[in-house]
Amino acid sequence: MLDASQPMRLQSYLCGAWRDGRGACKPLLDAATGAVVAEIDASGLDMAEALAHGRRAGAALRAMTVHERALMLKAIGLALLEQKDDFHALSLATGATPKDGWIDIDGGIGTLLNYASKARRELPNSRVLTDGLTEALSPDNSFSARHILTPLRGVAVHINAFNFPVWGMLEKLAPNLLAGMPAIVKPASQTAYLTELVVRRILATGLLPEGALQLVCGSVGDMLDHMTGQDVVTFTGSAATGQMLKAHPEIIGNSTRFTMEADSLNACILGPDATPDTPEFDLFIREVMREMTAKAGQKCTAIRRVIIPRAQTGAVRDALAARMAEVAVGLPGDKATRMGALASLAQRDDVRAAIARLQAGAEIVAGNPDAVRVASGDAERGAFLNPVLLYADQPLAAHAVHEVEAFGPVATLLPYDSPDQAIEIAALGKGSLVSSLFTNAPEVAEEIVLGLAPFHGRVMIGNRDSAKSSTGHGSPLPMLVHGGPGRAGGGEELGGMRGLHHYMQRSAVQGTPRLLAAVTGEWTKGANSHDGTHPFRKSLAELRLGDRIVTEQREITLADIEHFASFTGDTFYAHMDEDAARANPFFDGRVAHGYLIVSFAAGLFVQPDPGPVLANYGIDNLRFLTPVYPGDALGVTLTCKAINPRADADYGEVRWDCEVTKQDGSLVAQYDVLTMVAKEWKG
Ligand code: NDP
Repeated sequence: MLDASQPMRLQSYLCGAWRDGRGACKPLLDAATGAVVAEIDASGLDMAEALAHGRRAGAALRAMTVHERALMLKAIGLALLEQKDDFHALSLATGATPKDGWIDIDGGIGTLLNYASKARRELPNSRVLTDGLTEALSPDNSFSARHILTPLRGVAVHINAFNFPVWGMLEKLAPNLLAGMPAIVKPASQTAYLTELVVRRILATGLLPEGALQLVCGSVGDMLDHMTGQDVVTFTGSAATGQMLKAHPEIIGNSTRFTMEADSLNACILGPDATPDTPEFDLFIREVMREMTAKAGQKCTAIRRVIIPRAQTGAVRDALAARMAEVAVGLPGDKATRMGALASLAQRDDVRAAIARLQAGAEIVAGNPDAVRVASGDAERGAFLNPVLLYADQPLAAHAVHEVEAFGPVATLLPYDSPDQAIEIAALGKGSLVSSLFTNAPEVAEEIVLGLAPFHGRVMIGNRDSAKSSTGHGSPLPMLVHGGPGRAGGGEELGGMRGLHHYMQRSAVQGTPRLLAAVTGEWTKGANSHDGTHPFRKSLAELRLGDRIVTEQREITLADIEHFASFTGDTFYAHMDEDAARANPFFDGRVAHGYLIVSFAAGLFVQPDPGPVLANYGIDNLRFLTPVYPGDALGVTLTCKAINPRADADYGEVRWDCEVTKQDGSLVAQYDVLTMVAKEWKG
């Protein structure tokens, strides 16, 4: 259990030890009560040595396969889940209600676990990733190319925002560690105590190689002076700080990758069809309210601009105002509280100042930023603020609304006169993380989403059919891209396995296929092949890349085609009607079914006895390339192309290159056959 009776002195974990800063500590106050929760300082710590330590640690991560890293993340995620009550208890001090804490803590751990399982499903159990297919560069297959992805040899430095002390760290760490790169996390000071606790618990598992994760609680000092072209910096926070750091001479001079996620003036659009009598109208109101109040509006994805048909202005304003009046603001741990506190009194000052700036082109129509009403707690000592709604009658001229991010429970109503204008208003935000559209009309969805997409990293469509299943406007999901162009920072995070690429170098490798196969761990056409024992008789212990079977030929007769047609019910004219088939520009008469070819191919290459091949789980990249006529003879070459033993099972996946040819050598069909094969087989 945590001892909440005295402030914690936060430490940094650098170069293998927990360290105190050498300067005076800054107190960190509980957002809702004003009590001192923790003290922070990292001055005087050796950031150059921390980077060097991290870079050395990269070797241990790179020595692991992707699946081994994924299993490590899974074990860490499960260990954190068991301790989440401690994290939730401390999270209250950030001003977050338990529901807000769920987004941060459970959402963060969930992201880690999602990555751990997705990586094992979607990536090979290897140390190198490939990107795309083999590019043949010579007619005789003696020179080809593959794109490979290898982990960068530097350190990923994550400079995070105060609003998600757990999720903000884990959503970056998951793809970062999976890619095989070490990390240094620098949480925003205001809520660093929660990040520090989670890092302590991660390190206590003993699962990470030493140096794979370091932590700076306090200022990063001169760290950026020591950046190299192999390092990565990710930043989440204000555009002003982000742009300043991005322009650091070492970042520019070394072309250090810099991913930024900053101020984003996300919009939510009510479709012209979504009148007050439709379910979409109610869903829209609910979504805007949720986004204004979740985390007290301190979410990078929160709805700031509410874009509505001009005719609905009164209805939307009244519906939102009525709901806003019901929002109980108070102590985050109080059961009656709907919305907790902002992160700090300074943050509340910032939000009030931002509201004042918004009033250059907009007026407050509900809520009062200066007179705070709380259901519990002290309205002045705690960083409380009631929701505030503004209205800008001329959105195209209300510049501040599209420039100023009030990072709190604040949104502005912006009426539009046509769908085109709704898109124009949204685009004035100059690039956002996410916008949503509430409509039930396909033509509205098409027009507005295609208009919004170039300005957004994510667009959500809400309607009655997805009301129960929708994950909502504000939730970045591990499998979907998170980031946005322009003002939103121009960065991209998450996006499933795409997220790993930010920590890896993509290289085109050219060479002879035999050597490319050695580099990539995947057989490619032109590389060595081995005949002999049927490869279906070999377990993973014996199977080698390039093991293959070249089958006998089998003639296809008209009777085969007719039998297949009547047996399967596929009596498509190209198989059954000579004249109609001839009239088809692709055929010179009746042809064999594509699926007949695939079925006969299996009949040719399969070894039928019980053996190490456990199951066929699919086919990839199937293409039919040359028509097959009655009298043609088919043969198959099946070659072992990729072997992926599972780290946590007694079998693995084997990918086979399958080429079906006919008597004249022309390629009839090409595809990958996917099978599960036992690691050991005592037949
Ligand atoms: P900052 O940009 O000040 O801080 C973000 C991160 O950068 C923190 O970790 C901070 O550390 C760090 N940092 C600040 N200065 C430096 C520096 N010179 N060198 C290295 N790191 C530095 O943003 P805030 O957290 O104060 O939030 C301010 C505003 O940013 C909010 O009001 C909101 O408008 C916006 N914001 C936007 C987010 C988004 O994703 N859209 C998310 C969060 C904030 P430290 O805390 O120790 O100073």
